[in-house]
Amino acid sequence: MGLPLAARPGNNAVRRLVRKNLPPVLFMHRILVALSLAAVATGQIDPGTSWHFKLEQPTPGQRLLLQQHFDVLGACCGQNRATGPLEVFVWPEELALFTAIAPKATFVARGRPFAEIRAERQAASGALLPDINYYTVAEVEAAMDALVAAHPTLAQKVDISALPGGVATHQGRHLLALKVSDHVASDEDEPAILLAAQHHARELNSPHMVIGAMQRILAGYATDPQLQAVVDGHELWFVPTVNPDGTEHVWNVDQNWRKNRRNNGTSFGVDNNRNYPFLWGMCGASTTSSSETYRGPSAGSEPETVTMRNLVALLRPEIYLDFHSSGREVLRMWAPCANVSTAMAAFQQRYADDLRTPMTYGTRDPSASGESPEDHYASGGTLSFLTEISTSFQPVWSETVTEEARVWPGIRRALTTWRPALRGHVRSSLGPTPLVSTITFTPMQFNHGEVTRSRARDGRYGLWLPLGNWTVTFAATGHVSRSVPVTVSSFDQPLTLDVELEPTGPAATLARAGTGQIGTTVTFTYTSPGSAGAACLFGWSLGTSPGIDLGGLRVVPLNNDFLMEAAISGNPIFGPSWQTLDGSAQAQAILAIPNAPQFVGITTYVGGITWDPAWSRGIKTWSAPVAVTPIP
Ligand SMILES: [Zn+2]
Repeated sequence: MGLPLAARPGNNAVRRLVRKNLPPVLFMHRILVALSLAAVATGQIDPGTSWHFKLEQPTPGQRLLLQQHFDVLGACCGQNRATGPLEVFVWPEELALFTAIAPKATFVARGRPFAEIRAERQAASGALLPDINYYTVAEVEAAMDALVAAHPTLAQKVDISALPGGVATHQGRHLLALKVSDHVASDEDEPAILLAAQHHARELNSPHMVIGAMQRILAGYATDPQLQAVVDGHELWFVPTVNPDGTEHVWNVDQNWRKNRRNNGTSFGVDNNRNYPFLWGMCGASTTSSSETYRGPSAGSEPETVTMRNLVALLRPEIYLDFHSSGREVLRMWAPCANVSTAMAAFQQRYADDLRTPMTYGTRDPSASGESPEDHYASGGTLSFLTEISTSFQPVWSETVTEEARVWPGIRRALTTWRPALRGHVRSSLGPTPLVSTITFTPMQFNHGEVTRSRARDGRYGLWLPLGNWTVTFAATGHVSRSVPVTVSSFDQPLTLDVELEPTGPAATLARAGTGQIGTTVTFTYTSPGSAGAACLFGWSLGTSPGIDLGGLRVVPLNNDFLMEAAISGNPIFGPSWQTLDGSAQAQAILAIPNAPQFVGITTYVGGITWDPAWSRGIKTWSAPVAVTPIP
């Protein structure tokens, strides 16, 4: 049914030039660049819709150029096809160039409002409309509203563009999420899981994976113990449409629109899934604003990117699943241009396989850097996968219903079984203040600065670790870092590790004067900078390990033994134990060593401890212990 390209008006001069003698690929590149510059120079935006072409037998040169520079259907974004015909969406500003490269391409159709297509499909289905087919932006919101109305104690609609740090889109729209949890109205101290879809507007089937999941979870809550446990123990967040501006364009103007609606001056749109900052522009993204994979003017420049990254920073979800179409593949986390260690490559594949197997999907590397999963992992440690559903963007509705049923078991598996190796909170020992901490582990597995982070509201974190022995380090501004050995012996069995970090500042010290000879005294001077007027305790014990565990990995290095009890309750040899630090934040205590040979060689330890109710468990700081071993 195609109209020969030559029957349409086009750039005849260029076409003749090219036809005369098909130039080598390098020469074609020069033409391409020249034409792109010419388009930019005119400063015009053609408001027309996309052209859908098919090239039955592309030459190797045509195949290369089209796949590199055009929106090739089913071969988008680095997933090049080595053989077979190519179907290409060509945008008005690209038409002259496409005509030059592929003069024998046949015309299939112009892009048009998807609303027209839906109406035609519904009319063809007969008088009884089975359903409303794909969802407009308003219909996605209506689906959320219906769930909130049916499950008011479990579901809440959240305007995530209105959260602190969120922004409206270029056209002023707000991104919406459905939050699902018990006690949904409060921010509970629970891990979060985030599902999103439709970074790319035309992928109309993708939001139905997210909508289907939220419907199934809420419907199953009352009767399905596994789903109930997930809802009760987590905050689940669903963002069915990341790109509402582009989606409106699909419904009202052009069903083939992919990007957002930034006005680039000579074209519209940034590819939202090339704009995320981690390894932005390193591979698979275009610097040409008219390209379908345009990365944007700067890393994280787009409002959709800002709002989604902001949500992820607020929640620090343990899991993020992003849905696109098409290809029936679960993508690994890192782009092919990233440098990934053997351990992390195996780790991500383990989870990608676990997600795809129930869906009977394949797996591959992502098409590009700058995609959302890689960024959410690298910036905060969220285990993240992009799933390409179906074999096209807008198949007949019944196919998407079938696809949703195929994808759900994978989503269910991730939600009900995936758990990080380590979970806990990071707090400051100065009071109950939660800390945003970076969490890293050695032996080092990363080459691009990837870190896990605890979240601000309660210090909660989840750390994904491969099996093995690791040293995990928690670091926060203004605090002393803390490193902990961790052994991971099985997947999805989280260990709990709450951590308190000590604020940086001058350390408390204990100085000793005296030889330690039996029958003499040893004087200890405790100095706790900044604590003048505070209470202090001189502790005394036979050993320094395991010490007194205050929780959160804080350990006072004196054992709680009978000597400590003697020190606390008062005794004739050592003291005074309880004192108030003077104006120099100092206090002194004395150990009077009895003149008795049986004490020779018995080592005891003295340490100072500063009390302050503002600090965790009332203990502000302490000195390193000082040993005393009486001599004859
Ligand atoms: Zn996509």
